[in-house]
Amino acid sequence: MNKPCELCPRRCGAMRGEGETGFCRAGNAPRIFRWGPHFGEEPPLVNAGGSGAIFFSRCTMRCCYCQNSPWSWRGEGEDVSIERLREMMRVLAEDKKCANWNMVSPTPYLPFIREAAHPLLREGIRLPFVFNTSGYERRETLEEYAEFADVALCDLRYSQNETAIAASAAPGYVEAGRDTMKWFANRLGDGLALDANGLAARGVICRILVLPGHADEAIENLAWIATEISSNVHVSVMSQYTPAFRAKEIAPWNRTVSEDEYNEVAEAAADFGFANGWVQGFDSNHADAALLGENMSPGEGAVGERTENLP
Ligand code: SF4
Repeated sequence: MNKPCELCPRRCGAMRGEGETGFCRAGNAPRIFRWGPHFGEEPPLVNAGGSGAIFFSRCTMRCCYCQNSPWSWRGEGEDVSIERLREMMRVLAEDKKCANWNMVSPTPYLPFIREAAHPLLREGIRLPFVFNTSGYERRETLEEYAEFADVALCDLRYSQNETAIAASAAPGYVEAGRDTMKWFANRLGDGLALDANGLAARGVICRILVLPGHADEAIENLAWIATEISSNVHVSVMSQYTPAFRAKEIAPWNRTVSEDEYNEVAEAAADFGFANGWVQGFDSNHADAALLGENMSPGEGAVGERTENLP
């Protein structure tokens, strides 16, 4: 990378090609923690071969409750060459027969993903790209790398910037996250287009992780989506928050979500007219998903932990 890095809203300007690192500490090569078939995503993202996940190390946010802290904060993983990244993508498509290329937190590495992907695409090897993001994105970057978002799997985590700063050190998250959602919906449509096998080919899934003490923000975000985009958006309401990493010492992040909090959000999703998507069962080890509406087939997978070990 031979220019100052401005890929995410932080716009650090780090000269990564010269060895500098910015807020996310990403370097000048794709750094990958795990890769392989993943069965814990929403049903239309998972076939018998799984979702072809590539978990990139480092992150542009710093959530005190991060379940992925070994690689998102501490940077565990391995720097790989462009050729090796390309080989991973080839294996996921051709050998593992995954449903998609699921790029998890790809933003600091988008230029490398492009370099890796283009020769494969020229060979005719192609899966839908899932852009799996916290929502903390820059519109200019999304536009430049739009080809890597066939399906957006996008969090909307906060509706108050004070919370985003306190919990994730992410100033301006609310504006950035909502702008990201709008951009995805404008480009990909507010629904989810499925292929003949019921797998997501194009569209948006918005993940709403209910946070302890902040159920009101999840509800505000659902209201915002319904008003500003559409209640056609597939929402995935998630109950799986567990206090991890630094959250164990900080209230209210040091507890799980109460059933009342969770039910409030799930009911709001129905009240706002969302008929597409999923709500996780509350008493089910957070590993199952009930359909919000009748417009989807359950498929093979279920919403689950994103930290599941990959083979
Ligand atoms: S991707 Fe990383 S280095 Fe680039 S602007 Fe964002 S935080 Fe800074």
